[in-house]
Amino acid sequence: MNTKLLLLPTVALGMAAFLLSPSKDASAFSKLGGSLDVSQRDFRVFNNFADDASNNNVRGSAEFPGFLAAEQAIWKGSAEWNSSARGGDITQAGIGDGQSNFEAFFAGNTTSIGSTDDNIVSALSTCNGGVIAFTEIPIADGWRIRFCDDKTFSDGPGPIPGHLYDLQGIMTHEYGHALGLGHSTVGNATMYPVVSTGQVIQRSINFDDIAGLQCLYGSLSGSKPMISGVSVSGGSITITGSGFDTAATNEVWFTHRNVTASGGDPRVRVFNVSSTGGGTSITVAIPGDAGAGEVAVKTSGSLSSDLSNTFPTDLGEPFFGGSVFSNGSGSNPPCFMSTSLPQLGQTLNMQVDASAHPGGAGFSGVLIYAGSALIPTVSGELLVDLSSPQYGFLGGSSSGGIDLYSSTPVPDPSFLGATATAQGFTFSLSVTVLCNAENLTLGAAP
Ligand SMILES: [Zn+2]
Repeated sequence: MNTKLLLLPTVALGMAAFLLSPSKDASAFSKLGGSLDVSQRDFRVFNNFADDASNNNVRGSAEFPGFLAAEQAIWKGSAEWNSSARGGDITQAGIGDGQSNFEAFFAGNTTSIGSTDDNIVSALSTCNGGVIAFTEIPIADGWRIRFCDDKTFSDGPGPIPGHLYDLQGIMTHEYGHALGLGHSTVGNATMYPVVSTGQVIQRSINFDDIAGLQCLYGSLSGSKPMISGVSVSGGSITITGSGFDTAATNEVWFTHRNVTASGGDPRVRVFNVSSTGGGTSITVAIPGDAGAGEVAVKTSGSLSSDLSNTFPTDLGEPFFGGSVFSNGSGSNPPCFMSTSLPQLGQTLNMQVDASAHPGGAGFSGVLIYAGSALIPTVSGELLVDLSSPQYGFLGGSSSGGIDLYSSTPVPDPSFLGATATAQGFTFSLSVTVLCNAENLTLGAAP
């Protein structure tokens, strides 16, 4: 069986509602009649998205290490169904709200769209009937997700432009199908079958989605292995947590460091691993094929509750810098962003969008300070700490549109890992507007 489930744009709402025939009290999730086996929790991305907007996120994330652009958005989208939370952004407090025994494991990039049970996410150049994305679901033994690239998707992070579809949120919806959920009649549920451009609400699963997930995979079990931390030293990784097998029956899973062929199992696994400390610590040599991504531990057995949460790790590989969207209480307009990574001795490119400045901006700029703050002012929230060391005060006449700024951190290795906060602003004689900020972490040059 090869069932396709379609995600439709808002204009198709009337038809979708008719197809689902909801009654007034039928507000609930639905199931597709299967669930995803523990051996099928890995997934990969074939990044053939053609639009720039799908692939222009250059902001690294310590919570989703080693991957940018479409891969990072797709990884975040599926991770929302997992049991343990990682940092989100202004649009969602955390990623990983499942509260069940289900976990998805990101296994890296692959070479093609694969077959309908290879667990691969990719783009399809054209779809029929206004469809945005769909999932092919042989269910227990795998799935395939296609995004219809005749639409334009944004890889985020944070808020997205109003004319684009949200790659992350739509992945959360489609992955809900892959794990066995049908559509919901609850309007704010991720599994509601229609979505609008600019909408990011589907990134965050709601009570109805969680109820459906727990129905399929059970509420979070107290005996499920859980990873609470990892540390890398001398070619080995130590995984700390609880519930690991004390006998040599654990498996440790790693994300593959290379692009893998679409057929076959991409997980890098170490078998027959024992733990110490009563099932609280595992140390293994890092396999040569393992790369930045995530780790998981599977104990003996094949229940969902035998697979741990997934945990991010860069495996100690060089850090190429990171920037994370930051916006206090969320009241400042999102008019600032960096467009390259903060790296030692490399130009950091930034832009301030002055187009929405009331009455037109005469001037714009960027404040870069070592510390962050959250101070309400008449111009919005000041998000840099003006009493901390100043790394930059950039400014100039505004074009009235996108104003470009740059700064080059000194190539001093002692600054590796140093953090700073940058905030944009626009200015005219009548009013100053503070934009969002970004929290920057200095990385190495590639
Ligand atoms: Zn759907």
